[in-house]
Amino acid sequence: MKKTLLIISFLFTIIIACKGAKNVKTDKIVSVSKKESQKKPNIIVIMADDLGYNDVSFNGSVQIPTPNIDRIANEGVKFTNGYVSYSVCGPSRAGFITGRYQQRFGFERNPQYDPSDPIIGLALDEKTIADNLGSVGYKSGIIGKWHLGANIKNHPLNRGFDEFFGHLGGGHQYFSNMWTIEDSYAISTESQSYRTWLMRDHKPVDPVSTPKYITEEFADESVAFVERHKNDPFFLFLSYNAPHGPLQATQKYLDRFPNINNKKRKTYAAMVSALDDGVGLLLDKLTELDLDDNTLIFFLSDNGGPESKNASDNGILRGAKSSVYEGGFRVPFAIRWKGKITKGIFDKPVSSLDIMATAVALSGAKTNAEKPLDGVNLIPYLNGENNEKPHENIYLRKFDQKKFAVRNNEYKLVINKGKKELYNLDKDISETNNIAKKFPEQVKKIDEIRKTWNEELIDPIFKGLIHLKKKK
Ligand code: CA
Repeated sequence: MKKTLLIISFLFTIIIACKGAKNVKTDKIVSVSKKESQKKPNIIVIMADDLGYNDVSFNGSVQIPTPNIDRIANEGVKFTNGYVSYSVCGPSRAGFITGRYQQRFGFERNPQYDPSDPIIGLALDEKTIADNLGSVGYKSGIIGKWHLGANIKNHPLNRGFDEFFGHLGGGHQYFSNMWTIEDSYAISTESQSYRTWLMRDHKPVDPVSTPKYITEEFADESVAFVERHKNDPFFLFLSYNAPHGPLQATQKYLDRFPNINNKKRKTYAAMVSALDDGVGLLLDKLTELDLDDNTLIFFLSDNGGPESKNASDNGILRGAKSSVYEGGFRVPFAIRWKGKITKGIFDKPVSSLDIMATAVALSGAKTNAEKPLDGVNLIPYLNGENNEKPHENIYLRKFDQKKFAVRNNEYKLVINKGKKELYNLDKDISETNNIAKKFPEQVKKIDEIRKTWNEELIDPIFKGLIHLKKKK
């Protein structure tokens, strides 16, 4: 009997011990995974719309001071050779948000605003940065301009985002008294799409509750988003429509530029200044919440400034929005990650496509091997671990115009309706001296690189805004 009791008591002890061990193990897993998730850096992408290369003071603007945007560049790294993957809004955004050259999936035109057509927009089998970050526990929000398709299948909440506050199209009006159309899906013309109510997630927002200048509304929303998600790993795409036309600003910002007499330029400067204030509010909130060291911030424009339209200034760069010259797709571009990357200037070419690759690498998200990313994780290049170049080549194709640009190290091949031009950007940043005849072997070499890349691409899968213009 005693023996039996002893055995029972022994077994009982073992069961308790095992249970205890199991509990300890579970606790450990919970605490490790919580710690891991806390370590994942927050990621913020602030994208301006049609901002000129020379219209931020970190790139030399004297006329338009941008002290807050400058904080990102001065406390982080300024890219002097930062490119986007296209020289107009929609395709450039499609590239950034997938981390892939958008010509791989046929997004090569600015999309028409057509809620009835699910093809006009981001191909549904592509993954967005919000999809990938969401898969490893990030909360994702987009505030501002979407412009990647107006069909509900392409609504941000159906493309990986948890939250949306903004407008589905481009070219939005800046004042809420202009927003006369409640339903963003009841639109039959492009110009109507500029006057829709904003949306919060899937719901139209009554303009009475959004009385501020749109740039201020978006700034306030960005601050609220960070406050709401301070304990999550978060991804915020702060997609300002400023300073894209229509040129509209409030007196508060216009008054900052008493010395600019040109009305267009003055209004543009006011719009950039409002955007800069918004960036300041967001940065202050991050500091207040002690999130500076764990938050990676990118700032860039979606394409070069359309100088004749919005009075932007691309400085010494040739060309403007839509161009295959540098002014079309080399943009103001900076990154900040306090304590993790060395402050300074980075002169080697980088791409907006690198944002996805960097985000994926830092978060541990998996990507689809059948749809490889075109960007690279920039962090090793910025903290001195890797002294190579992030990119051997930077590409641009404009299908409808039959134009190409391929930057290969210091050389850039431009193809304009069959005519080949070559520039040495190290010596001739303004692309004034075509040296194609002098260096035919360089032209041939880069053209071969172009052909190989071009074979990987498909034709555009939907008609764009250019086709609307032709109809008129
Ligand atoms: Ca744009």
